[in-house]
Amino acid sequence: SNDYRVVVFGAGGVGKSSLVLRFVKGTFKESYIPTIEDTYRQVITCNKNICTLQITDTTGSHQFPAMQRLSIGKGHAFILVYSVTSRQSLEELRPIRDVIVEMKGAELDNIPVMLVGNKCDEAEAREVQTNLGEAQAKLWKCNFMETSAKTNHNVKELFQELLNMEKNR
Ligand code: GDP
Ligand code: MG
Repeated sequence: SNDYRVVVFGAGGVGKSSLVLRFVKGTFKESYIPTIEDTYRQVITCNKNICTLQITDTTGSHQFPAMQRLSIGKGHAFILVYSVTSRQSLEELRPIRDVIVEMKGAELDNIPVMLVGNKCDEAEAREVQTNLGEAQAKLWKCNFMETSAKTNHNVKELFQELLNMEKNR
């Protein structure tokens, strides 16, 4: 089908919902946005074809492992989000990434994965330096980007880059 399904994972509070809402609706809220699991659809053109970009914004908790596996199973591409203000949030991506590797196996080489350090506007509160994020991405053989849903830095680029990775594979 012409569905392209992107799944956004990461610890609670790193800005998953904010990134998705910034991209899909162009808005930003200072408050926390409680999420169960929400999918947003956008009609886009890729490879000169009309296709539907589906972005699934997950809860981020490990509360529903069955739901996590379901999202991974259906996903064509993954965004792994941490906050540059929390080293812990980068560490919390590991178990999610492990499940993706386990479920996708050798197929993973052909699956676009982007490691994203969000909240890069928070210079004072930064705990994770850019080169640490880059090093992690290299270990995980995925792409890397720093974003800010607040200032709209690299948000459009993030989704564009994922689609480009898909095209180039
Ligand atoms: P989620 O749990 O990962 O979906 O996180 P949310 O999108 O609900 O965001 C958690 C909190 O971080 C909210 O108060 C947001 O306003 C804030 N936030 C999200 N993205 C950014 C960002 O890029 N910069 C800053 N400074 N705050 C952000
Ligand atoms: Mg959320």
